[in-house]
Amino acid sequence: MIATAEPLLAPPAADMLEHVACYLCGARDHQAFITAEDDLGGTPGRYSFVTCAGCGLKYQNPRVTLDRIGAYYDDQYIAHRKKRDWGILTPLFERAMRKLDVDKARIVSRYVTLDSTSSVLDVGCAVGTFLQYLRETYGSHVAGVDFKDLSAAPTLRGVEFHCGLFYDAVLASNRFDLVTMWHFLEHDYDPMRSLETAHRVLKPEGRLVIEVPRLDSRTFNWFGDRWPGLQAPQHTVLFDRESLIAAVRKSGFEVVDYLPYGAFPAYFYIFTGAAFRMLKGRGLNLDRAIVPYFIGQQLMRPYLWFERRLNLAMQTIVCRRTS
Ligand SMILES: [Zn+2]
Repeated sequence: MIATAEPLLAPPAADMLEHVACYLCGARDHQAFITAEDDLGGTPGRYSFVTCAGCGLKYQNPRVTLDRIGAYYDDQYIAHRKKRDWGILTPLFERAMRKLDVDKARIVSRYVTLDSTSSVLDVGCAVGTFLQYLRETYGSHVAGVDFKDLSAAPTLRGVEFHCGLFYDAVLASNRFDLVTMWHFLEHDYDPMRSLETAHRVLKPEGRLVIEVPRLDSRTFNWFGDRWPGLQAPQHTVLFDRESLIAAVRKSGFEVVDYLPYGAFPAYFYIFTGAAFRMLKGRGLNLDRAIVPYFIGQQLMRPYLWFERRLNLAMQTIVCRRTS
């Protein structure tokens, strides 16, 4: 287990940071791209993202070392929330979370036939609600990996859960019909190694589905250094369309489809981006934000109907093995 719960009262000390070469091409030369704060958590510190001089990939450099990053994924981290007590808004919140899983299933079922014979792996599965949904709906065999030990979560019952880093997990080769990575790859400390691992564990005819924030999107243009997709210090890589496609191709995949949206609501980035601008690094109190969040979502509904055409915030790539 990597994660440790400790209060983060000071910016990361020099020994908590490390310089890294480009994940995609290995070059060490780079130029400054943008700096960002922990707008979501409100912990102190300013983090640098650079542009690789070799291939143009944007990534965090230096980054917080792997053994220290766990503290930034504390219990407030939304994907890891086990307790979902939002008072009278609990049903709304639960419906939103359920919708996220339904929308993920809708995307993947366009490319993979899911039934009781299919085997699915979700990398960065958090508390596993997506996998649970697939198990209940299609009867598929489901497995998940997460670096935080969430095995006690009731939603992981019936899920084959592997705690640790994806590339360290003991998983047989050519095993899965579908591997999904929902907002995982931009957090990864070795994304190319994870893509190679996905390639290894997928069946030859299997599909890999990856959703990440999209740097070349409208919300980045609107919010700049307060763009929620920067999510410092957790996000190690900032993919645009071109670098995401380059990364999968380099790992032995070809692109089956590319979607300029995801299952994750772009509205979340519109709301939090506007909030981060006002809060200026003080951190978002989720309990206080939830009422304005749902009100804003209702007000924006007509605009959000066109979400899939507006290139607002997310991207999803569907891949298959070339070898
Ligand atoms: Zn590079």
